[in-house]
Amino acid sequence: MDNTNARCASSKAALDAQVYDAVIIGAGIGGLYQLYKLREAGFKVIAIDAGTSVGGTWYWNRYPGARVDSPSHVYQYWFSEELNNAWNWSERFPAQPETELYLNFVADRYDLRKDIQLSTRVLSCVFDESISRWQVRTDRGAIIDAKYVISCAGTLSTPLKDLFEGEKSFIGEIYHTSRWPKQPVDFKGKRVGVVGTGATGIQVVQTIAPQVAALKVFQRTAPYTIPMKNQTYTDADRAQLKARFHEIKALARNSFVGFDFDFTYGSYLEATPQDRLKVLEMLWDDGSLALWAGSYGEIFTDEAVNKEVSEFVRRKMSDRIKDLELIKKLVPTDYGFGTRRVPLDTRYLEAFLLPHVEIIDIKSAPIERIVPTGIQTVDGKIHELDVLILATGFDASTGALTQIDIRGRDNQSLREEWSHDIKTTLGLMVHKFPNLFMTAAPLSPGAALCNAPTCLQHQVEWITDCILFLEEKQRHSIEPTQIQQDQWVEHHDELAASSLLSKTRSWYTGGNVAGKPKRLLAYAGGVNVYRERCEAVAAQAYADFQIK
Ligand code: NAP
Repeated sequence: MDNTNARCASSKAALDAQVYDAVIIGAGIGGLYQLYKLREAGFKVIAIDAGTSVGGTWYWNRYPGARVDSPSHVYQYWFSEELNNAWNWSERFPAQPETELYLNFVADRYDLRKDIQLSTRVLSCVFDESISRWQVRTDRGAIIDAKYVISCAGTLSTPLKDLFEGEKSFIGEIYHTSRWPKQPVDFKGKRVGVVGTGATGIQVVQTIAPQVAALKVFQRTAPYTIPMKNQTYTDADRAQLKARFHEIKALARNSFVGFDFDFTYGSYLEATPQDRLKVLEMLWDDGSLALWAGSYGEIFTDEAVNKEVSEFVRRKMSDRIKDLELIKKLVPTDYGFGTRRVPLDTRYLEAFLLPHVEIIDIKSAPIERIVPTGIQTVDGKIHELDVLILATGFDASTGALTQIDIRGRDNQSLREEWSHDIKTTLGLMVHKFPNLFMTAAPLSPGAALCNAPTCLQHQVEWITDCILFLEEKQRHSIEPTQIQQDQWVEHHDELAASSLLSKTRSWYTGGNVAGKPKRLLAYAGGVNVYRERCEAVAAQAYADFQIK
């Protein structure tokens, strides 16, 4: 690091800048851990976050009903058993405030806040090739000079905005779920509209339905949904989970999607119909995502298998509501189960049995515009509303990075590059962008197909080891070569082509953002396989990378 500092002293820009070894963008699950790891290793690091506190996703997404779909015993850090023993989850699937509290607890326990700059946005990162350092500019006017930039800016952190004409003309209250105010919103006696029925929309709907005077849910695509079986933990439950800390950690790291379950029931095609049904029923009753990502792997690759499992889920959903008209509207038939993110719900479908809750089909009659009194659909109807909630999702995986002006070698713009084609190497780095590391980036499982903390922790550890390697060898920069990147993209695309996820329109493929280049964002080879590939690269001393 002394060597590095000597080099940067020669930079004119650096004279006025704050000088660090690394800048971390984001102080959520990934950013906090990256800060901890690099600081432990002796680096001078700063994390920058736009929020007024830490927590990332769990800071921003404070909408009514926000709750994690991963069980708390896998949605957490693994780096310290002591930390695990010091924290007590109250439920299997905790609500947003608890996960936010956990991340604040971690920040305090490791005294991370002193190296976090809050209420600050990174505007640009420009690589100065002559000195192999990044100049990071923030909206506070500061320029930070750092050897490494690490994005922990999140995969679902850039909300889609300005989707509808006339939004500003609405005279009622309007909220985007991921920018929910900290003070409570009073729904009593109000006519409320919710646009969007993804994992977020359904949590909002099921939560506010009993509180509002009238609720209209504007749906373009019906979700497959599994009833969540939440459970309040007793001391005995917690003790039992804590005793399994190492076992659960190993299971999560070695599974396909980073949970403590996996495709352990063998092949669907080779199982008897009775055995298949037994497994599906058992996993349905588990009330978790295990039915989706811990039953039969063929759900993701074999259309015939997917069709049968989709039929099973449709029957289960229909049994919950019984009403034929509602079944037609709420039970999906136009795509296969699990080819979009499957949410867990708590009496979401049943909410539509309430007389004041209505589903509005905006596939056949799309939203034309927002008018001062509500939503106008193309059939000319005006749906009058007092409150409008937009649960319309995110520019996933790329959005957090493309909103920053990132310039690599030869002034190459990442935003421009990704506006043509979204490519990375190992989902961790990009050719022409030396010393820029990314977590949950495109072409890694963490972009979409992973229990977030499992993949974030793995990538943070890989990045930290890589930086330690470079410093130990007194090297200035690391960058994937064009050939290496092409090979990773080709490998990724081969896996994507065999996955049914690629064939359905969703945020998984960028299909929710107009003009976004289409590619399955997440690596579909499995968290376990991905980790092994990353480990092999490190074991070979990053031989395929260009290291200077
Ligand atoms: P999403 O899954 O992308 O859903 C957005 C919804 O808005 C969809 O129903 C979409 O319809 C609709 N929409 C978007 N643009 C529209 C338009 N122009 N007109 C009409 N409808 C429009 O977003 P999300 O629900 O925020 O969830 C994103 C991800 O966040 C989830 O998949 C999950 O990974 C994560 N999440 C997790 C949890 C949890 O763990 N409990 C909770 C919330 C979110 P189409 O489907 O037709 O595009």
